[in-house]
Amino acid sequence: AATYDVVIVGGGSAGIACAASLLKRRGDLSIAIIEPSDVHYYQPGWTLVGAGVFDPQTTRRTMGEVMPRKAHWIRQAVSAFHPDNSSVALDDGTMVAYRALVVAPGLKLDWDAIPGLPETLGRNGVTSNYRYDLAPYTHELVRSAAPGRALFTQPPMPIKCAGAPQKAMYLSCHEWEKRGLLEGIDVEFHSAGPALFGVADYVPALMTYIERYGIDFRPGSKLVGVDGAARVARFEQGGDGEKTVVERPFDMLHVVPPQVAPDFIRSSPLADESGFVAADPATLRHPIWSNLFALGDVVATTNAKTAAAARKQAPVVAVNVLAALDGKQPQAGYDGYGSCPLTVERGRIVLAEFGYGGKLLPSFPTWLIDGRRPSRLAWFLKDRMLPPIYWHGMLKGREWLADPRPIGQVR
Ligand code: FAD
Repeated sequence: AATYDVVIVGGGSAGIACAASLLKRRGDLSIAIIEPSDVHYYQPGWTLVGAGVFDPQTTRRTMGEVMPRKAHWIRQAVSAFHPDNSSVALDDGTMVAYRALVVAPGLKLDWDAIPGLPETLGRNGVTSNYRYDLAPYTHELVRSAAPGRALFTQPPMPIKCAGAPQKAMYLSCHEWEKRGLLEGIDVEFHSAGPALFGVADYVPALMTYIERYGIDFRPGSKLVGVDGAARVARFEQGGDGEKTVVERPFDMLHVVPPQVAPDFIRSSPLADESGFVAADPATLRHPIWSNLFALGDVVATTNAKTAAAARKQAPVVAVNVLAALDGKQPQAGYDGYGSCPLTVERGRIVLAEFGYGGKLLPSFPTWLIDGRRPSRLAWFLKDRMLPPIYWHGMLKGREWLADPRPIGQVR
């Protein structure tokens, strides 16, 4: 089998950022990125596609465009791990060997877990900003809405960008409000979880929008089935005790699907009991194999699964991979930073930024952006600044935004 210094599984936000970071630090490394897809997506843009702000095309690039020039792209999927032999198996049976492995294949959107959902997506008023091809349908539905009922759903945690289910709802409501339609539309937010948002500091600001838009917030209500033709959604409700199934007719249904570890990860020796890849929360190194690291949505750490988290994780993993190749202990530490720009209206954002344990980790001084209040500057950041920062900063390994800290400082 071919052997590389570093093999990276997945050419998404995390995998490409980590490869670029590694090559910035050590240009002569031999790196292979194993990635089956021809397309790389900037998924954080899909919320604004669903609101009719971004053209969908701006959220995608060909994989070839984002691959670092010095990395070798293996255009296949990984099917199995052999960490004791420091190798991975590809779909066609080929083995690829490594000195260090970086695991970053993201998570699996489990559309099939909701009976009736896959066949009605993109039709009958059923949409989701979680898919490139469906996000434009969200805006189509919002634009053509008539008096009726709109349902927005959120599955159990963990999900990527935990605020995204609400973002779709607030931006839809704001458009209806501006057009004088909101009065006639019953909006319900069905969330499997108990709270509006996992970090309490942001809840008061979000609650003002729940009230302003007249949203009926139903915590502890989990989508379990859809009948597209009849336009009825089924929800399981009730806490630990008796569960009941409630049917809600709808005119528009925005679904966020359940999210789980990819099958080939779940069934691998790398996974912990959650199915995601076990890793030390600070060093992102696997507890068993010291030449194996994970980042992005696939890692089992408790940070918010976001591209913002991957941006901070990438240099930490890069530094620690290089240390491993040099036979040293990990040097850099990650504090659990993740960010969720909650688009509460077109033009304003509640910028949630926090680390492990819900500790607030603002990037800006409060006088500039107070994350607990809706901010126009934060909208400008999301709308104008973050896409170029993503394409030209994060994916190129330019790290003035995410200098990795020595491990002692984050513990
Ligand atoms: P991905 O970017 O999903 O990439 C995974 C890659 O692995 C893919 O290219 C895939 O083809 C590849 N892969 C899969 N299986 C295999 C295999 N077997 N072998 C090899 N390769 C494989 N984040 C933010 O920071 N801010 C936001 O505002 C925000 N909003 C979001 C809104 C929406 C609607 C969505 C869907 C996401 C949002 N996110 C946001 C989350 C962000 O997009 C993800 O956290 C981020 O993309 C994670 O990066 P990743 O590399 O782990 O996974």
